[in-house]
Amino acid sequence: MKFLTIKSEREKIANQRIMKNIGVIIAISITVLMVGCTCQQPETAKDQVTDFVFPKGEKITNNNFLGTAWLQMLVNSDSTYNTSIGNVTFEPGARTNWHKHPGGQILLVTDGTGYYQEKGKPAQLIQKGDVVRIPPDMVHWHGAAPNSGLTHIAMSLNTDKGGAVWSGPVTEEEYDLIK
Ligand code: MN
Repeated sequence: MKFLTIKSEREKIANQRIMKNIGVIIAISITVLMVGCTCQQPETAKDQVTDFVFPKGEKITNNNFLGTAWLQMLVNSDSTYNTSIGNVTFEPGARTNWHKHPGGQILLVTDGTGYYQEKGKPAQLIQKGDVVRIPPDMVHWHGAAPNSGLTHIAMSLNTDKGGAVWSGPVTEEEYDLIK
């Protein structure tokens, strides 16, 4: 009888340990779930913040553009690279004036839809993912479509041959022809 009492006491202690262990497992599970949730939240916020790759920069205030456009310089040209790289964002309808680059230019379109036109040729639709190669001294313009913004990275090459040479604006009549 005494032996049985001792046995039941041991069972009671064993049961208590089991319950305690279950409690610990539940607590760990809840902690893991909570940590999982808090880890996901910054990722979601990060996705929103890194929606763009390069900053929009400052509003362009010179007279070489029509409409509202923004520029963030990424690389200023120097004698090692002879290349200047800028991130340009055009609001709908905004565009460069006619101009040419003595050393040529390459555009990497990163967002939106717009146009690239060489003088005397029809305008070409350009959109996100397009690469535009502009030969040296080719008179051209680039900018947004009437109903869409456009963002491109403009790489002006061989700048030791000179900077952009600007001509007159792309008139409303010329811009209307693309529609
Ligand atoms: Mn250009």
